Amino acid sequence: MPMLHGCAYPGCSTFTLSTYCVEHELLVRAVKESERGHALTHEDVTAVADTALSAETALTAAAPDTAV
Ligand SMILES: [Zn+2]
Repeated sequence: MPMLHGCAYPGCSTFTLSTYCVEHELLVRAVKESERGHALTHEDVTAVADTALSAETALTAAAPDTAV
């Protein structure tokens, strides 16, 4: 059973199974993509964050409440 821990993103205390919460996982990935040459606009980042937020909400709803 993997352990939940705090997101590694500064200022974020969302519990996650990976290094970052879903939102910041996608955000960090998007930043890395942009560093490889694809210029990311603010709209792109906002869209990624919106998608991640929905995914995280679904994940939270599906996960048992173990982080009390
Ligand atoms: Zn986070």
